[in-house]
Amino acid sequence: MNFNKCVRCGAFFINNSNVCPNCETKDKNDISNLQNFLIENNMPNSIDELSISTGIATKNLNRFLSEKRIEQIEKL
Ligand SMILES: [Zn+2]
Repeated sequence: MNFNKCVRCGAFFINNSNVCPNCETKDKNDISNLQNFLIENNMPNSIDELSISTGIATKNLNRFLSEKRIEQIEKL
């Protein structure tokens, strides 16, 4: 049995994701906010600007980017 440490809140949990079930929901909300933002706006020049515009922490934006969960961000 493998315990993973949630990258968002630091809680330990059991499954193959990077985040605990609570934060999985938050991730989905962040991603849908981000996608809505990108539909209506051009991609900002930096992750910092994107973070300010969307209210999503840069740490989480970078994670979505590295996990390739946001298609538009891959063009950055
Ligand atoms: Zn968590």
